[in-house]
This record gives sequence, C-alpha cells and structure tokens, in this order.
Amino acid sequence: MATLDFEIRPNPAPVAATQRAALLADPGFGKIFTDHMATIRYSDGKGWHDARIEPFGPISLSPATAGLHYAQEIFEGLKAYHAPDGGVTMFRPEANARRMQATCDRMAMPRLPEEAFLTAVRLLVERDREWIPTQDGGSLYIRPFMFATEVFLGVKPSSEYLFCVIASPAGSYFAGGVHPVDVWVSAEYTRAAPGGTGAAKCAGNYAASLAAQAEAIEAGCDQVVFLDAVERKYVDELGGMNVFSVYGEGDDVTLVTPPLAGTILPGITRDSVLTIATDRGWRVEERQYALSEWQADAESGRLRESFACGTAAVVTPIGRVRGADLDFTIGGGVEGPATRQLRETLLGIQHGELPDPH
Ligand code: PMP
Repeated sequence: MATLDFEIRPNPAPVAATQRAALLADPGFGKIFTDHMATIRYSDGKGWHDARIEPFGPISLSPATAGLHYAQEIFEGLKAYHAPDGGVTMFRPEANARRMQATCDRMAMPRLPEEAFLTAVRLLVERDREWIPTQDGGSLYIRPFMFATEVFLGVKPSSEYLFCVIASPAGSYFAGGVHPVDVWVSAEYTRAAPGGTGAAKCAGNYAASLAAQAEAIEAGCDQVVFLDAVERKYVDELGGMNVFSVYGEGDDVTLVTPPLAGTILPGITRDSVLTIATDRGWRVEERQYALSEWQADAESGRLRESFACGTAAVVTPIGRVRGADLDFTIGGGVEGPATRQLRETLLGIQHGELPDPH
C-alpha cells in the first residue's frame, strides 16, 4: 500500500494552557483527553483512506452501524513519556501495531498497515505533546481502536471501518507507593475457551469480564483471576493483566507464567518481562500453572513472589489470593526483590532512563 498522507486539521479551540495545567495536576486515568485525535477510514474497494489529525470530538453514527450490534470492535493501549533528554518516548509501539493486526485477523477485520498505525500515533503525540504529564511516573495513555462502520444489520464482516487514536494523560499508577494487589479467583466465570477470542484485544472480551470483575470488587479485591475454561484448574490471567510467579532468590530465580496458547492476551509487558529476566540470567518457564500449585507453594513458602503486569500496572506485586473457598498470602503480602527489580528496570527503559539493549 502507498504511504498514507495525513491531513492536519488543527483544533481551532484547544484547551487553554492554564486549564490544561490544572487538569494535568491530577489527571487520574482515562477521564480527560487531548485536543486532537487521529482517524483513518477503510472501505472495501478503496482500502485505507482519509487519514487525518482532527479536533477530538464526538463521532456521529447511524443507529444501524454494524459495530454497535455485533461488536467488531478492537483496541490497543500504550504510553508516551517525557524522556530525560527533553524528547518524548513511546514504549514498543510497533508491538501494539502488530498485535492489533493479529486481532484484526481473528475478528475478520482488515489489517491496518503497521506504518499507518505508527504514523497516526506519532502525529497525535507530537501535536498534543503538551498534554504529557511532567510529574514522576506520569504518562500519556494512547488508545488506538477500530470498529465496523457499515450501516447494515446483517451478521457478516463489515465493509467499512473507522480506525481512531485518542490520548489521555494519566497519573502514576504508583502515586501513593507500590501497594500489592489482592486478587479474586472466579469460580463461576471464565474468560476465554480454546478456539475463542482470548488472544485478541477485542471489546467483547472486556464486556464479558465485567461481571467477574464486579464479583472481585464486591469481595474487596482489586482484580479477577480467570482460570482455564476447560478444566477450571490452571491460572490464565487477570482481568487486564498477565500473571507471573517467582521462585528462588538472588541470581537463582525462575519465573513461571502461563503460556500463549490462545486463551490469554499476549501482553507486551509480559514479553518485556520475559526478555529482561532472560537478560539477567534468570530462568523462565512458560507453562500451565495450576491454582493448586500456586496455593501449595505460597503456603509452604517455596513461592516467594507473584506479580501482575500490563501497560497500566507495569509490574505490581500480588499480595493475597482469595476465592469462594480459598485464601492465601504470598511472601507475607509485601513486595519481593525480583518484582521490584523487574519493575524498576522496565520503568527505566520505558522512560528512556536506562539503555534498552533490544
Ligand atoms: N491481559 C489482558 C486481558 C489485558 O487487557 C492486558 C492489557 N492490555 C494485558 C493482559 C497486558 O497487556 P499489555 O502488557 O500489552 O498491556
């Protein structure tokens, strides 16, 4: 495909600098948005076209828009940061572009070329760079998404799509220090069956996870743990994060994490953690990990640390695991050294403060 040219339509009424500064002082997560968005349209026959940077604002849709009915809707999430040299860095955006392509394949949607994804993200971040928070740990959360826009109620792949990128300043996940999270093992709900959409970042996966997440919150936990849908025996992942357990100590460390067998999201943070661990000379095991093994090893003290990881949470310790008939604490419920080292290394690379050998 020929390179797409982006038409730039600057926002004629951007948020005033003083108001922006007030918003950036305490941005929270996902509530405020920058002045612009990137959009690219697709239609069968024409391919990808009408690439734009335009003012952030409402999208007008027919009530019969296919995406509103049959959930051909997918998304990505990544972050941009201020770098110490005064520039701006993004963490592995090409990995998000490729994962979105894999999601497109699963959802019978046309692949957006990697270059178009990267250009849309880069142009938006350049234009709205004043919105990147400057406080420690702050970032600009970037949300690319794509959905079916054909006006038709037949159940079939849409012939038209809108790809869009919006950006939202985010405060530090660790603003009040690092707090281990408590997780809730859902006995009732599963997230993804073999052959299903577990490895795709499609909206429907998240809609289906909300009842389980609500159950976790109701029980006073932060995140739900999903078990495999077949035997209900093995740990798959959390509602929005991948999960690791840490065995051993010092230089003799082994990380265990569930394999990418189609039912979990191939997290970019997960992949980075595996790489950093391997670089440190640690062993990594991508294998099925039974809930009973997790519990027995935590209770015997053989398991010292577990953590969750993802774009939002980076690397966050898991303190306690609860469920209808289980309750165990990991490593005394406090953060262990391997978890801390992995987080510090990853944050350093993400923020451009540590060299990235890859
Ligand atoms: N699993 C699920 C279900 C998620 O939603 C996310 C967040 N995208 C992750 C894992 C972590 O993925 P990443 O490291 O790419 O953010």
